[in-house]
Amino acid sequence: MSDPSFNRSQLEQLISRRFFYAPAFSIYGGVAGLYDYGPTGCALMSNIIQLWRNHFVLEEEMLEVDTTIMTPAEVLKTSGHVEKFSDWMCKDVKNGEIFRADHLVEAVLEARLQGDKEAKAAASGAAHVETPTATDPATAKKASKKKKSKVVVVELKPEEKAAYEDILAKIDNFGGPELAEIITKWNIKSPESGNDLTAPQEFNLMFDSSIGPTGHLKGYLRPETAQGQFLNFKKLLEFNNDKMPFASASIGRSFRNEISPRSGLLRVREFTMAEIEHFVDPENKDHSRFDDVKDIKLNLLPAKVQLEGSTAITVMTIGDAVAQGVVDNKTLGYFLGRIYLFLIKVGINPDKLRFRQHMSNEMAHYACDCWDAEIKSSYGWIECVGCADRSAYDLTVHAKRTKEKLVVREQLDEPKVIDKLQLEVNKKVFGPKFKKNAKTVEDALLALSEDGLQKLKDELDASEKTSINVEGQDYELTKTDISIERVTVTEHIREYTPNVIEPSFGLGRILYSLLEHVWWKRDNDEDRNVLSFPAVVAPYKCCLLPLSGNSVFTPVVRNLSQQLRAKNISTRTDDSKASIGRRYARNDELGIPFSVTIDFQTVEDGTVTLRERDSTKQIREKIEVILQVLKELSEETITWDKVVATYPAFSAKEGDEE
Ligand code: AMP
Repeated sequence: MSDPSFNRSQLEQLISRRFFYAPAFSIYGGVAGLYDYGPTGCALMSNIIQLWRNHFVLEEEMLEVDTTIMTPAEVLKTSGHVEKFSDWMCKDVKNGEIFRADHLVEAVLEARLQGDKEAKAAASGAAHVETPTATDPATAKKASKKKKSKVVVVELKPEEKAAYEDILAKIDNFGGPELAEIITKWNIKSPESGNDLTAPQEFNLMFDSSIGPTGHLKGYLRPETAQGQFLNFKKLLEFNNDKMPFASASIGRSFRNEISPRSGLLRVREFTMAEIEHFVDPENKDHSRFDDVKDIKLNLLPAKVQLEGSTAITVMTIGDAVAQGVVDNKTLGYFLGRIYLFLIKVGINPDKLRFRQHMSNEMAHYACDCWDAEIKSSYGWIECVGCADRSAYDLTVHAKRTKEKLVVREQLDEPKVIDKLQLEVNKKVFGPKFKKNAKTVEDALLALSEDGLQKLKDELDASEKTSINVEGQDYELTKTDISIERVTVTEHIREYTPNVIEPSFGLGRILYSLLEHVWWKRDNDEDRNVLSFPAVVAPYKCCLLPLSGNSVFTPVVRNLSQQLRAKNISTRTDDSKASIGRRYARNDELGIPFSVTIDFQTVEDGTVTLRERDSTKQIREKIEVILQVLKELSEETITWDKVVATYPAFSAKEGDEE
């Protein structure tokens, strides 16, 4: 259930007032789905990125690359994005308003279910009806994606209610034709105007462009960083001394022309992604560090449960989930565990984190199993990390298109004697017969699998001729053109195309969800906002507060901030005239975990107070001691509890200051 006291607009005011981020081009009226980050947002994002690098790239010796955003169309045609990277859109037939079809269906059906609840509550004389619970998993999955629809208080028939709930549980599994059917069957109209809607049409989400002055080379802004990593596979494998498995990683901007972005940072048109491509042997998807994560318990929502019309969570260890086949393999399970640990380190509330498996139709065109880490916020459950097993799809299609071998060649410990079909092309007749197409036909034949060759051989044996279809054209082949024989060969090398497990993070979504999870108000006081970021991601670790503008403090502050910088502890000095208590409150709003106050006693005996944001407890020690404690606190190598257990509490002036 959502927290009824959660007031999103107050959090948004805080985000804007302390310039975490704000709509881009606002003095020109803004553009939906484009945001600029301010100083606090930048610092927070850069700390999240740093943590990501440490947690994944450094910890696992991943090979980081930084590849271009502008991508030739040919690459994205090959990957399938030009044809398939789209969402379904429908239009109000009269006023032209545009909707993402699945979001519209969700919004309308949820509003009807809400109207039903209110009607029943009114009929039974209930005083309080829950407001639309965007965070209620049963009814409001991914509420972020859509515009709110008007709630009309009407009781539904039991079969209508059941049908709506069933549609909502499966909404991500529907394509255009199913959505069209639902829109017609359940009489869904444009929510504001009540006008009819067009049938859903596919809308490709990529921004196109052209490269160079002639405009002949079509390009796109990349919709993900993954393709750049696949295209560098050969170099990366070589860099890794041909050792498998290994992972590449990339952090950078991606672009998607979302149909109607309406939920702040959660659905934007330009965003920072952090992606890992873990290349693995398709015949062995175990992971050497699986035992490190096998006992972690995750909240799982398997596809099967959703297809039964339910969103009930199963809590399971990763070890059990893999052993019982809920999660396909150990590498996928390993990454689910690592994603969980990363999100918890960032400060995401584990009770508001679940892993939802994709249903078959929902799965991206390349994936063979996929789990989303979804985080609950006031917008509902939102996918923040996708973790897909992309099989061998990408390397296979790029290899086929470019004729570059994107494979692993592995020396076998023992040579293998195998029986296989061997194809011979009779070049003397092939060239004159197929002329300029000879090479294309030969390549297509050489790319055939064992089953494909067997089919051709059977046809040749039966009727002396067969054919192959290449790019839509049939080419007839006879026994004079080719021969296919079964031979016994000894192989010393195993050649295979690796499969890819891809954890893909949208860092803006994580950043926004974090803001919701760490925000609270002290003593229920409207004006006392606190953002309880963990120290590692807090935009600043420490705030320096001289008691007043008295010049005796100037050299102490200068000296202290120099020493903090030398220890890499990011610091903000607040020497404004406000009282210390007010300044504490202001800096709590920035989520600064520790404050050091310099007063007249500091000038006398070199001691300062150190105050912790969440507990407001203080200690007072010599500057050297405080610096060391701060270093450890900001790196999270000790906890504040340990600090207060080690040093005596300091309470003087607390009442005045707070
Ligand atoms: P996908 O490739 O669609 O699975 O997306 C990977 C990740 O990118 C998601 O888990 C999100 O965190 C993030 N993402 C995708 N689309 C958007 C968007 N329009 N705005 C912000 N983040 C996004």
